[in-house]
Amino acid sequence: MSKRDYYEVLGVSKSASEAELKKAYRKKAIQFHPDKNPDNKEAEEKFKEAAEAYEVLSNPEKRQRYDQFGHAGMGGAAGGGFGGGMNMEDIFSHFGDIFGGGSFFGGGFGGGGRSSRRVNRGSNLRVKVKLTLKEIAEGVEKKIKVKKYVECNSCNGSGAKDGSSFSTCSTCNGSGQVTRIQNTILGQMQTSSTCPSCNGEGKMITNKCTSCAGEGIVRDEEVISINIPAGVAEGMQLSVSGKGNAARRGGINGDLLILIQEEEHPELVRDENDLLYNLFISIPDSILGTAVEIPTIENKVKVKIDGGTQPGKILRLRGKGLPDVNGYGRGDLLVKINVWVPNNVSKEEKKVLEKLQNSESFKPQPTSQEKSFFKKVRNFFE
Ligand SMILES: [Zn+2]
Ligand SMILES: [Zn+2]
Repeated sequence: MSKRDYYEVLGVSKSASEAELKKAYRKKAIQFHPDKNPDNKEAEEKFKEAAEAYEVLSNPEKRQRYDQFGHAGMGGAAGGGFGGGMNMEDIFSHFGDIFGGGSFFGGGFGGGGRSSRRVNRGSNLRVKVKLTLKEIAEGVEKKIKVKKYVECNSCNGSGAKDGSSFSTCSTCNGSGQVTRIQNTILGQMQTSSTCPSCNGEGKMITNKCTSCAGEGIVRDEEVISINIPAGVAEGMQLSVSGKGNAARRGGINGDLLILIQEEEHPELVRDENDLLYNLFISIPDSILGTAVEIPTIENKVKVKIDGGTQPGKILRLRGKGLPDVNGYGRGDLLVKINVWVPNNVSKEEKKVLEKLQNSESFKPQPTSQEKSFFKKVRNFFE
């Protein structure tokens, strides 16, 4: 399933401000709201699509990642586990920020009993995962042990002892909201806020579960297996939806955020999707030519170095770099040739070299292209 560009979904430019994003999302949310489009699957999809786009773009960290990596940076390329989209409850639970205290439902669409009740949300968990270049090149499944809040088994997360000992909150009559009329200079204003007695849940537990003291969650450990797509890089963050902390009393789980870290390779240096390797050959080898073994991520490859190769030359082994995280091909392995100058030679070697010193063919005779070669390589390995 290919996703539409988030900016396109909201109909804003890439440079849209926070206020513009909010305004655009508000418009879409009202246009495609399920109350306004009953039994309309297409509207519901658009509603969800807009919510997802807003969820990402309204978060500066996520937005930056999206701008840089596209949908793949959101974990979409993982082929399982990542980016499962948003469900309706998620979306409604965020509406308070957009429409302010549930007034959207009260005023705009009448009734609103369903969604103004607050849904508990578990907090997100963040873990770091260190990967070798080989794991990054191939993609990897990692099993991570995470300490977190999980649903209480005794009460199935409800927090109530026998699973049904609830009573409707008498303060808010189950709506989760209390409304107040205030007299202001602009006239009477109605404000609604979360019910303090039941924390917006609309119900109270009469008989609390003893295992979790009525919270519906307990501290535990879980082994979570995650599929990390090939081509990720240091600093990228993937999110596994619903694998964070469980919420109090059967709410929505938080997400598990995975921060990618790269282990240093002993010989290869990463430069985006390319890999760099510094090769050192001897002076005789540079003159006479040789065959060398170059390490790649998978194995070693044999490379022929022609006689008369100048130091500084860069060989490009196509496709021997890292795969692009968005699936756009593979980088190369760049091999920079260095000629090793010995700083200690024997008497006999010295004699040979002294003969060569005055030899005509050993006098530097660079071509004009070679003279300006510095231009090309100055940024390499710095
Ligand atoms: Zn319990
Ligand atoms: Zn209440």
